[in-house]
Amino acid sequence: MLSSRELYDRLASLFPLRWWSDDPWTVVYQSVLVQHTAWSNVEKTSASADLSLSAVSAMSDEELERAARPCGFAKAKSGTIRALSSWYASVRTEADGLDTDELKSRLLSIKGVGQETASVILLYAFRRPVFVLDAYTRQLLERLGFSFSSDCQRLEYLEKGLDGDVSVFGYYHWLILELCKAWCRKKPLCSSCPLRQDCRRGSSEPVSAS
Ligand code: SF4
Repeated sequence: MLSSRELYDRLASLFPLRWWSDDPWTVVYQSVLVQHTAWSNVEKTSASADLSLSAVSAMSDEELERAARPCGFAKAKSGTIRALSSWYASVRTEADGLDTDELKSRLLSIKGVGQETASVILLYAFRRPVFVLDAYTRQLLERLGFSFSSDCQRLEYLEKGLDGDVSVFGYYHWLILELCKAWCRKKPLCSSCPLRQDCRRGSSEPVSAS
């Protein structure tokens, strides 16, 4: 079975490397907007409304809710973005002095911020070596043939061999998404997938005649 580093290298040879956003606040609000919706809706929302930190501070709750509407769950998401905007404004200057566990625990205390959203913010906004473990990643690991019984085990596997390299952590998440969009979909396209030979599910699928 592939090691985490081997899996990363294979994916990095297939797709361009991609970071979230170089602007930390953009990462923060988009990590909320993307919950339970497609990335295309986040892009649409980000393009149609100014959600910069200063703009969010100046918006009424109704305006913020309206801006978040294309991503669904607008009331809940706008409330979380509002709470995060205050949190971010107060923490950004002291963040360098806080360890990752402390930052994470502060994030998780905000309503609407779960493990995945906190991981996105820690990694892409604060550049901490935290793996973003999402449903796509769990599904991919299971299909590859790993039988982990907890997220702790999954993270142990994924982080091993990455030497705490924040860039690799950041690129890895997008690379998995690219694989899941291109081949490892809900109904996977195993016969043409480049990982087929190293994948338990793929190697058990019949080869397509085409
Ligand atoms: S071979 Fe199939 S199940 Fe395995 S990673 Fe590729 S698409 Fe997914």
